[in-house]
Amino acid sequence: MAKKGKYKCQVCGLTYNEKEWADKCKAWCSEHKSCNLEIIKHAVK
Ligand SMILES: [Zn+2]
Repeated sequence: MAKKGKYKCQVCGLTYNEKEWADKCKAWCSEHKSCNLEIIKHAVK
């Protein structure tokens, strides 16, 4: 279960503090089957 304030990309598994980025990551990952550096740099460890 995700922690409060954390949003996970269901495709690549990266976690974001903002849902907006998680949604963008998921959309990108689903369409391109790869990671977008401009998006994943917003991911949290
Ligand atoms: Zn992703």
